Amino acid sequence: MAFSQSTEKAQAPAMCQFCEESPEIKWKCVNCDLFLCKLCCSKIHSKSKASMEHEIINLKDIDTENLAKTMRKVDLQNLQYLDAKWKLSENIIKIELSALKQNGDELEIRKNNLYQVLQTKQVTDIFSTTQTLDKSIPKYSVKQIKQCETKFIPNTRQLKMGSNILGDLYSVPDFEVIKKYQSNNKNVKHILFCDDSTAFILSNHGNASHKLQKVKFENDNTKVERDIDIIVNDMEKTHDGEILVSSGEGDIKLYTKDGTFLKTFMTFTPLKTLGLHVTNNIR
Ligand SMILES: [Zn+2]
Ligand SMILES: [Zn+2]
Repeated sequence: MAFSQSTEKAQAPAMCQFCEESPEIKWKCVNCDLFLCKLCCSKIHSKSKASMEHEIINLKDIDTENLAKTMRKVDLQNLQYLDAKWKLSENIIKIELSALKQNGDELEIRKNNLYQVLQTKQVTDIFSTTQTLDKSIPKYSVKQIKQCETKFIPNTRQLKMGSNILGDLYSVPDFEVIKKYQSNNKNVKHILFCDDSTAFILSNHGNASHKLQKVKFENDNTKVERDIDIIVNDMEKTHDGEILVSSGEGDIKLYTKDGTFLKTFMTFTPLKTLGLHVTNNIR
């Protein structure tokens, strides 16, 4: 490689390659291979933990010998760094390899023992050998199953006797709130998800009047896409993504996927429809 002041200067870009604003290029970082202005070099590049050890050359000092020397130094540093990194990985690989080999040897011994004892056709020998087999089974890691968390759920009523005064210990799944959405509905009775961001919300507004809304979850809010004017007692999604609605009358209505109309799906008069459930085999 040959460098000269004139070629190096000629290769220098018009702008600082860091801020891409200043045309006053004063430095070159050999590690980053970037030309820097004075401000970027002193205020950013040399302050950052990742680059404070980098080799910087003042452009006016760039000559063949100087640059070649610095590049050799950086190459050597890189080589040492990569070498140390490889040594670490190499050690891990060696340890795993020797454990694998050991397991392989143990399995081979086990296989031979079994084969020999089976040849003898002696029942007592076969049984006594099988009892020793466990010892030669290589150790393997077992994933730990996370136990249910135990949570203390305090009681709000204070005049009860026994543990009810304080509350009880329950074994419960570890739930946590990951996101909250604001809605104008006070008593949400049922939420039926269409996909990750849209759902039907059934809410209670007193005097047995219910409101059905199709909403979209956006940021922290729910945006009402559609108010559906119908009395709803319960609703369930079918496997086709359509929605069955019980209205407290004799009918079960169907809210189709295109969301345009409701029609009677099935009638049970004189019985009244209340709770709804769709089973796996769609019954
Ligand atoms: Zn700059
Ligand atoms: Zn650098």
